[in-house]
Amino acid sequence: MSLLDKMMSDNLKRLKGMQREMLNMQEEIYDENGEQIERLNKKRAELDAAGTKIHYQAAASGVKEAMSSDAPDKTTKFCHECGTKIQKSAKFCSECGAKQD
Ligand SMILES: [Zn+2]
Repeated sequence: MSLLDKMMSDNLKRLKGMQREMLNMQEEIYDENGEQIERLNKKRAELDAAGTKIHYQAAASGVKEAMSSDAPDKTTKFCHECGTKIQKSAKFCSECGAKQD
């Protein structure tokens, strides 16, 4: 076995030892705090679910808003320069300042 091989296999052994230690520590931590970890995981799942719900609600209301704001009514029109919705009576666009006819 060359020196390099020996060094590599020594390192590998050390790494495996450390890995085992880590797993043992993980198990110990879980043994001591299993209940808290379960509760934490449950809470995190609840939070994720709530966050996802809020995210979808926001997305849905955003779409609704975008759709309603895209529809011009009797009092609004679109700027012919930039497309911003402005008051029909406006002489100038509030966004780009273009003169309206
Ligand atoms: Zn404009």
